[in-house]
Amino acid sequence: MQREEMVRTQIAARGVTDPRVLEVMRRVPRHRFVSDEARPVAYGDSPLSIGHAQTISQPYIVAAMSEAAAISADHVVLEIGTGSGYQTAVLAELARTVYSIELIPALAERAAANLQAIGYTNVHARQGDGYAGWPEHAPFDAIVVTAAPPEVPEALRQQLRVGGRLVVPVGTDWQELMVIERTPTGYRERTLMPVRFVPMVRGPG
Ligand code: SAH
Repeated sequence: MQREEMVRTQIAARGVTDPRVLEVMRRVPRHRFVSDEARPVAYGDSPLSIGHAQTISQPYIVAAMSEAAAISADHVVLEIGTGSGYQTAVLAELARTVYSIELIPALAERAAANLQAIGYTNVHARQGDGYAGWPEHAPFDAIVVTAAPPEVPEALRQQLRVGGRLVVPVGTDWQELMVIERTPTGYRERTLMPVRFVPMVRGPG
């Protein structure tokens, strides 16, 4: 089946090994997060348009970011850039609760309705500007950002629990995927790989 093949040839083949992540990637119905026209290629090795000049990320990138976030079943996760809601669904299968913020109202509404229709009950999605994070529900065990800010947003760093990880593509044209772990005394940073995401836009106000 197409999802098995996607995991084998695109994700495991590129070095993702976390068994829970691979299992979840085999399960989440990616075709339900793309447009009708894109359904035949939903399991292809590429990002796809979701309208509003935005894209659903390539399956491998979703898996690699989920693995880098090191999510356990009892974790509370914040996602910035809900988009189609596909990464949200993957996170929801890995974590206890997922909070997700999307800037574009039409995308935020569609993703929330779709996630609910598919049956995700542990997702709280809202429209808003991810630069502020979601302080009411902080601290988070992991924060996954799927749009690229020019620099690491300070509010997101501060909303990490000690031991928690922020996975974020940082830069303008091309970006480095960074993993920032909060330690008892500060932050430990490493870069994973070069990536290309849509820009993280500043909301009004
Ligand atoms: N994870 C999504 C990726 C969508 S693309 C998926 O796989 O479908 C990135 C998304 O980030 C876009 O929908 C874009 O509108 C959103 N975005 C950009 N800037 C943002 C901001 N400041 N706050 C929240 N969302 C933002």
